[in-house]
Amino acid sequence: MKKVLEGEAPQDLLLKCYQCGERFIFTVGEQQFYQQKGFVHPRRCEKCRANYSNR
Ligand SMILES: [Zn+2]
Repeated sequence: MKKVLEGEAPQDLLLKCYQCGERFIFTVGEQQFYQQKGFVHPRRCEKCRANYSNR
């Protein structure tokens, strides 16, 4: 993966949930967490993620 963001200040992203269509904030802290896990972006908002993992 290219380090395109290197040198840029990390910032919160506004993403759109592909399940319910709501926009949600993907915070810098979450971005770092996802990167450590090897993931890219969450596709669902927190609510949908909670619903999904509860099933
Ligand atoms: Zn959602």
